[in-house]
Amino acid sequence: MTRTIEELIPDYIRGLPVYVPGRPIEEVERELKIHAVKLASNENPLGPSPRAVEAASLALGNAHRYPDGGTHLLREALARRTGVSTEEIFVGLGSSEIIDLASRVLLRAGLEGMTSHGSYPPFSVAIRASGAELVLVPQRHFAFDLEAMGKAITPKTGVIYLANPNNPTGTAFGAEELDEFLEGVPDGVLVVLDEAYIHYAPSLNRRKSEESYRRRRNLLILRTFSKVYGLAGMRIGFAIGRAELLSAMNRLKTPFNTSGLAQAGALAALDDREHVTRCIATNAIERKRLSAGLSGLGLRPVPSETNFIFMEVGPEAKGICDELLQLGVIVRPLGWMGFPEALRISIGTAEENDKCLAAMAEILTKRAGKGELAAR
Ligand SMILES: *Cc1c(COP(=O)(O)O)cnc(C)c1O
Repeated sequence: MTRTIEELIPDYIRGLPVYVPGRPIEEVERELKIHAVKLASNENPLGPSPRAVEAASLALGNAHRYPDGGTHLLREALARRTGVSTEEIFVGLGSSEIIDLASRVLLRAGLEGMTSHGSYPPFSVAIRASGAELVLVPQRHFAFDLEAMGKAITPKTGVIYLANPNNPTGTAFGAEELDEFLEGVPDGVLVVLDEAYIHYAPSLNRRKSEESYRRRRNLLILRTFSKVYGLAGMRIGFAIGRAELLSAMNRLKTPFNTSGLAQAGALAALDDREHVTRCIATNAIERKRLSAGLSGLGLRPVPSETNFIFMEVGPEAKGICDELLQLGVIVRPLGWMGFPEALRISIGTAEENDKCLAAMAEILTKRAGKGELAAR
């Protein structure tokens, strides 16, 4: 037999795009020899909950033991909070793992998975990695076009991924729109509703999607500890969904997907309401200030329901991101997410946002002087 190992890799995996993470601060500082701020990955600028840090530090003493593979304590706490049974909670290695597992369990060649253009790239990767066909529905005004998505459902559709609020555009749809959409989705199609940014959305109420789940059990709600709880580095998230589906995901996941440190940290972070409240309030204040500052520079940020700001700046978007980087401000160019003329800025602390605004002002002034970019 003359087959090589590489030939075993199927075309649908060979063709997958690589996830492009925000550049780490240390790397940029080493390369440019400047102090940098990272506003590129929608991390919590106020850090982790201090109670989570304490709980995880204590758990470190048990690092020689395998963690609780069934994540019992955390699932019980989450079930109490969300009003479902513990069998309806799945804890994953970040929501990332659950996004992947949903497609791996339900999709295969011959079926279709659907999401929107201009949404979170891991949705498309999960669908394509399952061997199913990816169906991308265009957006309207930087938001999910739920009506068009409903019309795109075929007998082959197995899973539909929604992010509410959406990354990278920062827009959200309301509970009524969701319910109307769910009405039109057949029982045999799973809707994955990724609510990573739900805490930050002034127009949304977390309880609403749980109520929708009680009515329509073909919904899988994803939440994460990576954003408002400030535990992105711990890698832990969870899903609310029907027990039969979660049980199949359990068979497929690696035996100890989340660490004992992450479980202890998450459990403590859940109870730290003070930290969560402070993070939401700070984000709201800074979101308003950063948006106003960018508008004041002639830019047009899309109104945000999240902890980041999306805006189209024209064909020079990548160049502007590079120049911001040279000035020590790491933001995210969005060509790889389907918006070659846009960039995304995570909302930082007041100091970080000031640095970002000053750098942006410097770049736009210089460019206007050269006549390269008419301020918009
Ligand atoms: C940040 C983010 C997540 C979080 O992923 P984790 O794996 O839990 O860190 C999930 N979905 C979206 C849309 C995000 O932007």
